[in-house]
Amino acid sequence: MEKKLTMEKLVNLCKNRGFVFQGSEIYGGFANTWDFGPVGVELKNNIKRAWWKKFVQEDPSCYGVDAAILMNPRVWEASGHVQSFGDPKMDCKNCKTRHRADTIIENYSKGTISAEGMSNEEMEKYIEEHDIKCPNCGKRAWTPIRKFNPMFTTSRNMVGDEKDVVYLRPETCQGEYINFLNVQRTMRAKVPFAIAQIGKSFRNEITPGNFLFRTVEFEQMELQMFCHEKDSMSFYNAYKERALKFVESLGLKAENLRYHDHDKLAHYAKAACDIQYNFPIGWQELNGVHHRGTWDLSRHSEFSGKNMDYLDPFTNERFTPNVIEYSIGADRLMLAIMCEAYEEEVLENGETRVVMHFLPAIAPYKVAILPLQKNLGDMAKEVYNKLSKSFMCDYDEAGSIGKRYRRQDEIGTPFCVTVDFDTLEDDTVTIRDRDTMKQIRLKIDELSDYIQKAIEF
Ligand code: ATP
Repeated sequence: MEKKLTMEKLVNLCKNRGFVFQGSEIYGGFANTWDFGPVGVELKNNIKRAWWKKFVQEDPSCYGVDAAILMNPRVWEASGHVQSFGDPKMDCKNCKTRHRADTIIENYSKGTISAEGMSNEEMEKYIEEHDIKCPNCGKRAWTPIRKFNPMFTTSRNMVGDEKDVVYLRPETCQGEYINFLNVQRTMRAKVPFAIAQIGKSFRNEITPGNFLFRTVEFEQMELQMFCHEKDSMSFYNAYKERALKFVESLGLKAENLRYHDHDKLAHYAKAACDIQYNFPIGWQELNGVHHRGTWDLSRHSEFSGKNMDYLDPFTNERFTPNVIEYSIGADRLMLAIMCEAYEEEVLENGETRVVMHFLPAIAPYKVAILPLQKNLGDMAKEVYNKLSKSFMCDYDEAGSIGKRYRRQDEIGTPFCVTVDFDTLEDDTVTIRDRDTMKQIRLKIDELSDYIQKAIEF
């Protein structure tokens, strides 16, 4: 059945079914912040767990860390964020809206031109030559492009009244670079090895929006592979492939995914590629894979005074490892997964049901326990108590069974277990499949294995 998904429909479903609420809603909201509700937090946690399983747990050469969000400000001097980095912003003098020059160029060229690596002057020239107008008012009245530092600042009390500026990290990866030596020493790790992390990042984005796609506070799941230069291109290609396989394994269809190789690169980078997803707002970046050369470790060696070279115990060669970075936003991936999972299905009786076809392994609830009638509640609660030791279960006894099934379809619960009067006689229940709506009868004791098998990942 064809999907008719708009971002508005998805936002409404999320709001009404407990996936995602507007941040600070009772105070009129706080732009581009979102709170994950009881259903959404499960989905996001499952996505993060699936990523960790594939890239950390199942890879003996990858080690996890959880670094502090607040770091010594020198980290951001070394990374280049304090001095020179930043997004290119320009304002429309006519309608007073703010835009990112690189996005304006990329949208105008339908993604065929990547503005990453272009100077401000090059971008201004391109916009003028192609007569690119403001997408809001249709006039061309741009201010010059200026770099806008996207780092949020806060301060830390020092002696007396003195305060030191501290940054909220705009990316998680610096926490891995600065722990390269610690991880290598404590885990007796041999290059090539990777350090992975999942955590919050904060960016004062010029043009946040499109629901979870671009927010000012978000979570990144990413890893840095440290390797010898001679192996670096093959790791780069391997991560491009693994990154694509991973999102496919979570249910994103191949036809909605594509590689987008960058032709213009940051001055230190050797190669860069995004995987794009076909969101309701068009093809947009889902994740990045970057070959960052020796830039990161060299800069931290220089700024910290601590030598971050690696001595190969087999060859006795001393070298600065190259870095391959793979980074994906947990919130942005959750958005893509919800877009892909959404279906408005017209049933044989002409009714329409909304169903979220999540892969069972990442579905928020694995099973809902539904007594056919309220007076079967005690028995149903026994089933709930049993299954909830192993799985995230929902329990619902309010309303008609049909309405309860629909509610579970909308939050993507793969199985509904119904306790009826036969259950009292023979300890069997019906288990209904979300996608086919078919029901079979199983013994209560068989439920756990049946569900476990279906949610393996
Ligand atoms: P974009 O071009 O969309 O701004 P980026 O190239 O700056 O992204 P990276 O710095 O490579 O992104 O971050 C890695 C990943 O983190 C992105 O691919 C995306 O999934 C996620 N991400 C980045 N910025 C945001 C944001 N503001 N909101 C939600 N997710 C984000």
